[in-house]
Amino acid sequence: MGLPQVRPDLRALEGYHSPQVSVDIRLNTNEAPGAPPAGFSEAVAQAAAQTQWHRYPDRAALKLRTAIAEFHARAGHEVGPEHIFCANGSNEVLQTILLTYAGPGGVTLTFEPTYALHTHIARIVGADPRHAERTDNFELDLDIALAAVEEHRPAVTFLCSPNNPTGMVDALETTKTVLNAVEAIGGLLVVDEAYGQFAPSTALDLLGPDVPMVVSRTYSKTWAMAAARLGYLVGPSEVVSELEKVVLPYHLDALKQAAGTIALDFLDDMDKRVAMITEQRGLIEAGLRDLGATVWPSGANFVLFRPSDGDGQRVWQGLLDRSILIRNTASWDRLDGCLRVTVGTPDENNAFLQAMKGLS
Ligand code: PMP
Repeated sequence: MGLPQVRPDLRALEGYHSPQVSVDIRLNTNEAPGAPPAGFSEAVAQAAAQTQWHRYPDRAALKLRTAIAEFHARAGHEVGPEHIFCANGSNEVLQTILLTYAGPGGVTLTFEPTYALHTHIARIVGADPRHAERTDNFELDLDIALAAVEEHRPAVTFLCSPNNPTGMVDALETTKTVLNAVEAIGGLLVVDEAYGQFAPSTALDLLGPDVPMVVSRTYSKTWAMAAARLGYLVGPSEVVSELEKVVLPYHLDALKQAAGTIALDFLDDMDKRVAMITEQRGLIEAGLRDLGATVWPSGANFVLFRPSDGDGQRVWQGLLDRSILIRNTASWDRLDGCLRVTVGTPDENNAFLQAMKGLS
C-alpha cells in the first residue's frame, strides 16, 4: 500500500516558486525595499502584548475593514466596511473569489503574459482557465479582449494593472470597456491592483453597488508588510457577503488584524515610500535604456527589460555572480530573454545599474 495519488487534474501541476536565495541584494519578489517605521513595530508589539491569545479573533475583522474603508474614503472612494473583504495576502483574496465564483469547471480568463497565480489558483480550485494574448508590446488589444470574453464567457475575468510581470497600466477606458463586456455575459471582473498605489489611475473609480467588479489590493508592497500576509478587495457588498460564506472561519489572526489597522496610521510614511520608489523606478528605467536595453514603461515597483543582446539568462547569472538576485523571466512564455528587477533602495539600485554596465 503506497500513498494515494493526488487529484487527477493536479498531477501535472508544478508549484509556484520564487527562489529565496541568500544574496547581498534581493530584487526579485517586488517587496518594499525597507521596513515600516519604528513606530509601527512598537505599536504592533503593544498590540501583541494586549492580544487575548486564548480567544478566537474577531471573525468579521470589523476594525480592520472599517480602517481600510476609511483609508479609501479619504482618498475619494465612498466605501464602508461592508465593501471590504480581507484575507491572508491578496493571493487568498483571489483564491476565495475563484472558489466562490468559478469553482470546478468554471471558466476563467486571463490576458497573457500576466500574473501566473491567476491561472495557478484557478487550476487548484478545479476551474477551467482560458487565456487570450496581449499584443507584442504587452498591451491589451480591445478587439482581442472583447472577442475572448464573448467566446469563453468566463465566470471570472482577470485584469492586472499595473500588470505583473510587465509593469504596464491599463487605461481606465480600457478597463471600463472590458467591464461592460463582462457585465453583458453575467461574469465578474477582478482587477488585481497589487501595485495600484504606484500607478497614476485606479479601477476603484469604476466601482458601484451593482457593478460586477472587485479590485484587489495588498499590504505586501506599498505598506512594506509582505511578512504579514494581508490583502483585501474593494467591491459590491453582496459580493463581500458571498466571499465571507466561503472563506474559512477565523482565517485572519488577531495580530494580523491589529497590524493591518495600525499600518494605516502611517500614511505619510507610505506616501514617502511610494514617492521614493517611483522616482527610483525612473532612474532604473533611464539607466537601462542608456545601456541599450528594451524597457517597458512601468507603473509598478519593478521594471521589465530585455538586455541589449537579448540574453537575459547570461545577464541574470552575471548579476547573481555579483550577489544581486533579480527575477529570471527569460524563459517564460512570451518574455523571451527578459528580466524583471524590483526597485530597491537607492544604494541597491545603483549597485544593480553598475553591475549591468559591467555586463552590457
Ligand atoms: N497580485 C499580483 C499581481 C502580485 O504580483 C502579487 C505578489 N507577487 C500578488 C497578487 C500577491 O500578493 P500577496 O499575496 O502578497 O498579497
